[in-house]
Amino acid sequence: MTKVIINGSKGRMGKALLRCGEINPDIEIIAGIDVGDDLNNVINNADAVIEFSFHDVTRNIAELCSKNKKALVIGTTGHTDEDKAAITELKSQIPIVWASNFSTGVNTLFWLTRKATEVLGTEFDLEVVEMHHRLKKDAPSGTATTLSEILAEVRQVSIEKEIRHGRQGIVGERTDSEIGMHSLRGGDVVGDHTVVYAGNGERLELTHKAASRNTFANGALRAAAWACSQPPGLYSMEDVLGLE
Ligand code: NAD
Repeated sequence: MTKVIINGSKGRMGKALLRCGEINPDIEIIAGIDVGDDLNNVINNADAVIEFSFHDVTRNIAELCSKNKKALVIGTTGHTDEDKAAITELKSQIPIVWASNFSTGVNTLFWLTRKATEVLGTEFDLEVVEMHHRLKKDAPSGTATTLSEILAEVRQVSIEKEIRHGRQGIVGERTDSEIGMHSLRGGDVVGDHTVVYAGNGERLELTHKAASRNTFANGALRAAAWACSQPPGLYSMEDVLGLE
């Protein structure tokens, strides 16, 4: 039984993690931490911390996990490059599973995106479209960013140079190498992601739609149990699922 603490326990994901953790036979949730609580008081009793709160918070949580030698699962998105680098450094101390999306379906979408981009070659124009509920704070979503990173990696182009966030005005014709990125916000959409491959005379679209946060929560709980038996390192959900 893996003893887990949820950080951000009063949020949308935190509540889903508490709900799913209660009925998971491999997991015991020993504490939920949110604003006003102190993780220092309980971390010693845990095997792993699952962090789904706010991007400003993750670095401190990661440092606390490193100090106490606890496995860490990070679901929070929207970190600065500086925070990403500082958190990544801790991989030599503890196992960290860091995923922009913990659903099995989306991780299969990552795998399919890599394959489709390899197979279709450079003849197809690449665009990523995502939609989330009206309360989401960061854009584009972490998952859409991961998808664009996969596209850039396979095409061997610089993501910083080629990403086009929306289009407005006289932007000129599309280049072959640009990767379009479009964020829609509204209603209670849990998370939709589409990768569009637009060619001459045909178009392929790979789409994933999440209908419940339980899919992310169950994936993060599985990652926590898995991480506890791994050596220090930085892992993805594809590693947890054995997809790589
Ligand atoms: P939310 O705003 O509903 O919840 C965030 C919670 O964190 C709130 O209860 C807030 O009070 C708490 N919090 C803020 N500061 C804190 C602190 N210092 N210590 C402890 N708790 C603190 O947001 P959400 O929809 O639950 O999403 C949380 C994060 O998870 C976002 O970054 C979101 O993008 C990400 N997310 C990731 C996945 C994934 O699969 N990786 C899926 C869904 C959401």
